[in-house]
Amino acid sequence: MMTERRPTESLPMIRSASQGCHPSGTTFLSRRHVLSGGIASAALAGILSTAAPDAARAAQTTLTPDAALDRLMMGNGRFVAGKLASFEEDLTILKQNNVAGQEPFAAVLSCADSRVPVELAFDQSIGHVFATRVAGNICTPEIIASLEYGAVVLGTAVIVVLGHSECGAVKATIAAKAVPGQISALYAPIRQAVERGGRNLEATIKANAQIQADLLRTASPVVADLVGQGKLKVVAAYYDIGSGRVSLLG
Ligand SMILES: [Zn+2]
Repeated sequence: MMTERRPTESLPMIRSASQGCHPSGTTFLSRRHVLSGGIASAALAGILSTAAPDAARAAQTTLTPDAALDRLMMGNGRFVAGKLASFEEDLTILKQNNVAGQEPFAAVLSCADSRVPVELAFDQSIGHVFATRVAGNICTPEIIASLEYGAVVLGTAVIVVLGHSECGAVKATIAAKAVPGQISALYAPIRQAVERGGRNLEATIKANAQIQADLLRTASPVVADLVGQGKLKVVAAYYDIGSGRVSLLG
Protein backbone atom coordinates (compact mmCIF):
# COMPACT_ATOMS: atom_id res chain seq x y z
CA MET A 1 0.00 0.00 0.00
CA MET A 2 1.12 3.55 -0.60
CA THR A 3 -0.59 4.90 2.50
CA GLU A 4 1.16 6.04 5.65
CA ARG A 5 4.20 7.14 3.73
CA ARG A 6 6.12 9.92 5.34
CA PRO A 7 6.10 13.21 3.43
CA THR A 8 9.60 12.72 2.12
CA GLU A 9 11.03 14.50 -0.88
CA SER A 10 10.95 11.27 -2.84
CA LEU A 11 7.18 11.25 -3.08
CA PRO A 12 6.91 13.55 -6.12
CA MET A 13 8.90 11.02 -8.08
CA ILE A 14 6.30 8.37 -7.29
CA ARG A 15 3.61 10.61 -8.67
CA SER A 16 5.76 11.41 -11.65
CA ALA A 17 6.21 7.75 -12.40
CA SER A 18 2.52 7.22 -12.08
CA GLN A 19 1.72 10.07 -14.43
CA GLY A 20 4.43 9.09 -16.82
CA CYS A 21 2.89 5.89 -18.11
CA HIS A 22 2.55 5.93 -21.84
CA PRO A 23 -0.46 4.25 -23.39
CA SER A 24 1.57 3.12 -26.34
CA GLY A 25 3.77 1.06 -24.07
CA THR A 26 6.73 1.87 -26.27
CA THR A 27 9.92 3.83 -25.94
CA PHE A 28 9.37 7.50 -26.42
CA LEU A 29 11.30 10.50 -27.61
CA SER A 30 11.84 13.24 -25.10
CA ARG A 31 10.93 16.87 -25.37
CA ARG A 32 14.61 17.53 -24.92
CA HIS A 33 15.46 15.53 -28.02
CA VAL A 34 12.92 17.34 -30.11
CA LEU A 35 14.27 20.70 -28.99
CA SER A 36 17.85 19.76 -29.52
CA GLY A 37 17.49 17.96 -32.82
CA GLY A 38 20.65 17.81 -34.83
CA ILE A 39 23.01 17.44 -31.93
CA ALA A 40 22.65 13.71 -31.56
CA SER A 41 25.39 11.54 -32.91
CA ALA A 42 24.75 9.10 -35.70
CA ALA A 43 24.80 6.25 -33.22
CA LEU A 44 22.30 7.94 -30.99
CA ALA A 45 20.12 8.72 -33.99
CA GLY A 46 20.10 5.02 -34.71
CA ILE A 47 18.74 4.30 -31.26
CA LEU A 48 16.21 7.07 -31.54
CA SER A 49 14.97 5.86 -34.90
CA THR A 50 13.50 2.85 -33.16
CA ALA A 51 11.52 5.00 -30.74
CA ALA A 52 7.90 5.88 -31.10
CA PRO A 53 7.12 9.19 -32.85
CA ASP A 54 4.76 10.42 -30.14
CA ALA A 55 7.27 12.86 -28.71
CA ALA A 56 4.65 15.32 -27.56
CA ARG A 57 3.50 12.94 -24.84
CA ALA A 58 6.88 12.64 -23.25
CA ALA A 59 6.74 13.51 -19.57
CA GLN A 60 10.23 14.16 -18.28
CA THR A 61 11.36 15.28 -14.90
CA THR A 62 10.69 18.93 -14.29
CA LEU A 63 13.60 19.19 -11.90
CA THR A 64 16.33 21.67 -12.69
CA PRO A 65 19.89 20.31 -12.64
CA ASP A 66 20.46 21.90 -9.22
CA ALA A 67 17.22 20.49 -7.84
CA ALA A 68 18.07 17.04 -9.19
CA LEU A 69 21.46 17.19 -7.51
CA ASP A 70 19.84 18.36 -4.27
CA ARG A 71 17.47 15.39 -4.41
CA LEU A 72 20.41 13.00 -4.72
CA MET A 73 22.35 14.65 -1.91
CA MET A 74 19.33 14.67 0.38
CA GLY A 75 18.97 10.97 -0.32
CA ASN A 76 22.61 10.44 0.58
CA GLY A 77 22.01 12.31 3.81
CA ARG A 78 19.26 9.85 4.69
CA PHE A 79 21.53 6.93 3.74
CA VAL A 80 24.32 8.21 5.99
CA ALA A 81 21.83 8.74 8.82
CA GLY A 82 20.38 5.27 8.33
CA LYS A 83 16.93 6.68 7.65
CA LEU A 84 16.11 5.39 4.19
CA ALA A 85 12.80 6.54 2.73
CA SER A 86 12.98 4.57 -0.51
CA PHE A 87 12.26 1.38 1.37
CA GLU A 88 8.84 2.75 2.21
CA GLU A 89 7.92 2.99 -1.46
CA ASP A 90 5.66 0.32 -2.80
CA LEU A 91 7.84 -1.75 -5.11
CA THR A 92 4.91 -3.45 -6.79
CA ILE A 93 3.45 -0.13 -7.85
CA LEU A 94 6.85 1.19 -8.87
CA LYS A 95 7.48 -1.85 -11.05
CA GLN A 96 4.12 -1.48 -12.72
CA ASN A 97 4.56 2.25 -13.31
CA ASN A 98 7.93 1.78 -14.91
CA VAL A 99 6.96 -0.92 -17.39
CA ALA A 100 5.91 1.53 -20.07
CA GLY A 101 8.95 3.74 -19.80
CA GLN A 102 11.54 5.23 -17.51
CA GLU A 103 12.00 8.77 -16.32
CA PRO A 104 15.16 8.87 -14.23
CA PHE A 105 15.95 12.35 -12.97
CA ALA A 106 19.65 11.67 -12.51
CA ALA A 107 22.47 9.62 -13.99
CA VAL A 108 25.50 8.29 -12.18
CA LEU A 109 28.81 7.00 -13.50
CA SER A 110 30.29 4.92 -10.73
CA CYS A 111 32.92 2.27 -10.28
CA ALA A 112 31.81 -1.37 -10.47
CA ASP A 113 33.02 -1.84 -6.89
CA SER A 114 30.46 -3.81 -4.86
CA ARG A 115 30.94 -1.45 -1.92
CA VAL A 116 29.37 1.42 -3.87
CA PRO A 117 25.62 0.72 -3.90
CA VAL A 118 24.53 3.56 -6.17
CA GLU A 119 20.76 3.61 -5.73
CA LEU A 120 21.04 2.77 -2.03
CA ALA A 121 23.66 5.44 -1.41
CA PHE A 122 21.29 8.07 -2.77
CA ASP A 123 18.20 6.47 -1.21
CA GLN A 124 16.52 5.96 -4.56
CA SER A 125 14.51 3.03 -5.83
CA ILE A 126 13.19 1.89 -9.20
CA GLY A 127 13.14 4.29 -12.13
CA HIS A 128 14.91 7.26 -10.56
CA VAL A 129 18.61 6.81 -11.32
CA PHE A 130 20.20 5.92 -14.67
CA ALA A 131 23.28 4.10 -13.40
CA THR A 132 26.32 3.31 -15.52
CA ARG A 133 29.17 1.38 -13.96
CA VAL A 134 32.67 0.41 -14.97
CA ALA A 135 35.79 -0.22 -12.90
CA GLY A 136 37.48 3.10 -12.23
CA ASN A 137 34.38 5.09 -13.29
CA ILE A 138 36.07 5.95 -16.56
CA CYS A 139 34.47 7.52 -19.62
CA THR A 140 34.62 4.82 -22.26
CA PRO A 141 32.77 5.40 -25.55
CA GLU A 142 30.06 3.01 -24.39
CA ILE A 143 29.65 4.84 -21.09
CA ILE A 144 29.45 8.20 -22.88
CA ALA A 145 26.88 6.79 -25.29
CA SER A 146 24.82 5.50 -22.38
CA LEU A 147 24.93 8.81 -20.54
CA GLU A 148 24.04 10.67 -23.74
CA TYR A 149 21.03 8.40 -24.09
CA GLY A 150 20.07 9.08 -20.48
CA ALA A 151 20.30 12.82 -20.94
CA VAL A 152 18.83 13.25 -24.41
CA VAL A 153 16.17 10.56 -24.49
CA LEU A 154 15.31 10.02 -20.84
CA GLY A 155 15.83 13.57 -19.64
CA THR A 156 18.27 13.13 -16.77
CA ALA A 157 19.04 16.56 -15.35
CA VAL A 158 22.31 15.77 -13.61
CA ILE A 159 25.20 13.35 -14.13
CA VAL A 160 27.32 12.47 -11.11
CA VAL A 161 30.74 10.94 -11.76
CA LEU A 162 31.31 9.09 -8.51
CA GLY A 163 34.79 8.05 -7.42
CA HIS A 164 35.15 6.17 -4.16
CA SER A 165 37.65 5.51 -1.40
CA GLU A 166 39.88 2.44 -1.68
CA CYS A 167 39.24 2.14 -5.43
CA GLY A 168 41.05 -0.96 -6.66
CA ALA A 169 41.26 0.28 -10.24
CA VAL A 170 43.06 3.42 -9.11
CA LYS A 171 45.29 1.45 -6.76
CA ALA A 172 46.25 -0.88 -9.60
CA THR A 173 47.00 2.03 -11.90
CA ILE A 174 49.25 3.61 -9.28
CA ALA A 175 51.03 0.28 -8.74
CA ALA A 176 51.27 -0.28 -12.53
CA LYS A 177 52.08 -3.93 -12.10
CA ALA A 178 51.53 -6.63 -14.68
CA VAL A 179 48.00 -8.04 -14.45
CA PRO A 180 46.26 -10.89 -16.27
CA GLY A 181 43.82 -10.58 -19.13
CA GLN A 182 42.64 -7.14 -20.13
CA ILE A 183 42.68 -5.57 -16.66
CA SER A 184 45.48 -3.21 -17.68
CA ALA A 185 43.09 -1.59 -20.15
CA LEU A 186 41.89 0.38 -17.13
CA TYR A 187 45.29 1.92 -16.56
CA ALA A 188 45.52 4.36 -19.46
CA PRO A 189 42.33 6.34 -18.72
CA ILE A 190 43.37 6.71 -15.04
CA ARG A 191 47.05 7.51 -15.60
CA GLN A 192 46.49 11.26 -15.91
CA ALA A 193 44.86 11.26 -12.49
CA VAL A 194 47.88 9.46 -11.02
CA GLU A 195 50.08 12.24 -12.33
CA ARG A 196 47.79 14.88 -10.88
CA GLY A 197 47.35 13.08 -7.57
CA GLY A 198 51.04 12.55 -7.01
CA ARG A 199 50.47 8.83 -6.37
CA ASN A 200 48.43 9.67 -3.26
CA LEU A 201 45.43 7.33 -3.39
CA GLU A 202 42.65 9.64 -2.22
CA ALA A 203 43.96 12.59 -4.23
CA THR A 204 44.22 10.39 -7.32
CA ILE A 205 40.72 8.98 -6.88
CA LYS A 206 39.31 12.49 -6.60
CA ALA A 207 41.37 13.71 -9.54
CA ASN A 208 40.12 10.80 -11.60
CA ALA A 209 36.48 11.63 -10.90
CA GLN A 210 37.11 15.24 -11.89
CA ILE A 211 39.00 14.28 -15.03
CA GLN A 212 36.28 11.88 -16.14
CA ALA A 213 33.62 14.55 -15.48
CA ASP A 214 35.64 17.06 -17.52
CA LEU A 215 36.01 14.50 -20.27
CA LEU A 216 32.31 13.90 -20.35
CA ARG A 217 31.60 17.62 -20.60
CA THR A 218 34.09 18.17 -23.41
CA ALA A 219 34.24 14.91 -25.37
CA SER A 220 30.51 14.68 -25.85
CA PRO A 221 29.00 17.48 -27.94
CA VAL A 222 25.61 16.16 -26.87
CA VAL A 223 26.40 16.62 -23.19
CA ALA A 224 28.20 19.91 -23.79
CA ASP A 225 25.21 21.29 -25.66
CA LEU A 226 22.79 20.42 -22.87
CA VAL A 227 25.16 21.80 -20.24
CA GLY A 228 25.45 24.99 -22.26
CA GLN A 229 21.68 25.31 -22.34
CA GLY A 230 21.49 24.88 -18.57
CA LYS A 231 19.46 21.70 -18.91
CA LEU A 232 22.12 19.36 -17.59
CA LYS A 233 24.83 19.46 -14.95
CA VAL A 234 27.88 17.20 -14.71
CA VAL A 235 29.52 16.98 -11.31
CA ALA A 236 32.32 14.93 -9.80
CA ALA A 237 31.87 13.41 -6.37
CA TYR A 238 33.61 11.14 -3.89
CA TYR A 239 31.98 8.27 -2.02
CA ASP A 240 33.51 7.24 1.30
CA ILE A 241 32.81 3.53 1.64
CA GLY A 242 33.24 3.64 5.40
CA SER A 243 30.69 6.33 6.16
CA GLY A 244 28.61 6.13 3.00
CA ARG A 245 28.89 9.88 2.61
CA VAL A 246 29.06 11.48 -0.84
CA SER A 247 31.09 14.68 -1.10
CA LEU A 248 30.89 16.92 -4.13
CA LEU A 249 34.24 17.80 -5.65
CA GLY A 250 34.72 21.39 -6.73
ZN1 LIG B 1 36.70 1.45 -7.75
